[in-house]
Amino acid sequence: MVHIDKPTDNVKDVFEACISNYEDVNFKKRLNSVTAFIETSATNYDSQAGVNNLNAISMVNNVNNIITVDEMKKVYDHKLVRKGQPGRMYYEKLRLSAKNNICPLCNQRTVTTLDHVLPKTFYPIFAVTPFNLIPACADCNKIKDRYQPNIAEEEIIHPYYDDISNQQYLYAVLVQTTPPSINFYIKQSNPINIIEKRLNKHFSLFALNELYTSNAAGELANISFRLSKLYSTGGRECVREYLREEFESRYENNRNSWQTAMYKALYKNAWFCNGGFRID
Ligand SMILES: [Zn+2]
Repeated sequence: MVHIDKPTDNVKDVFEACISNYEDVNFKKRLNSVTAFIETSATNYDSQAGVNNLNAISMVNNVNNIITVDEMKKVYDHKLVRKGQPGRMYYEKLRLSAKNNICPLCNQRTVTTLDHVLPKTFYPIFAVTPFNLIPACADCNKIKDRYQPNIAEEEIIHPYYDDISNQQYLYAVLVQTTPPSINFYIKQSNPINIIEKRLNKHFSLFALNELYTSNAAGELANISFRLSKLYSTGGRECVREYLREEFESRYENNRNSWQTAMYKALYKNAWFCNGGFRID
């Protein structure tokens, strides 16, 4: 859900670094022979991803009929991921590219790994392609696993190619209970457009409503005392104004954070501003 600038390192440099210290001459020779193919494929990836068409790229179980899936996985695991190996600097660079080290898929948890947008099991050709490697938290990485959509509408939001920062898509609805709670959803146009369909898929696949709802419950508990004090001195208008300013500040920073959605729902809700904020 959060945009990251596209990596500038090209796959040729990354792949050549990864395979540079193999001692098995024949294996290294075979790997060298697919460098140009991997490079061409990365250019194609960039073109297709730019028009939300990654699903058009066919799955393959080898690289140019020369390198197997397991061999490419080993290049990734042993040479890009492993500390002290020649590709590790590229791994670190990609991992550190997320703003504030927050996972761009959930915009909540800390980055701990790299995720292959097109899984390396089905697309070994992109196992070390920077465009295909995004920083992610362990949970999102595990949830996505081998998820592979067949249609454009079901593609997740790609941090390097999609940027939804100019519009609010994530909204919240307040449940008027004691304590109050919050549910989140992606607002839909009529008819629903493709980015909304993809956001819906992304939102459900990564179970973001559950994640955001529990975080929002903690935030509601944290602000309850503050709101009670405001209410006792200035009444509901004072509470509303405080919440509106909190919303504005978050909206300026990120229009699609759960905090932005939550504070918007709160300041607009008369029941909440009139004492509904009490948690017991
Ligand atoms: Zn995540």
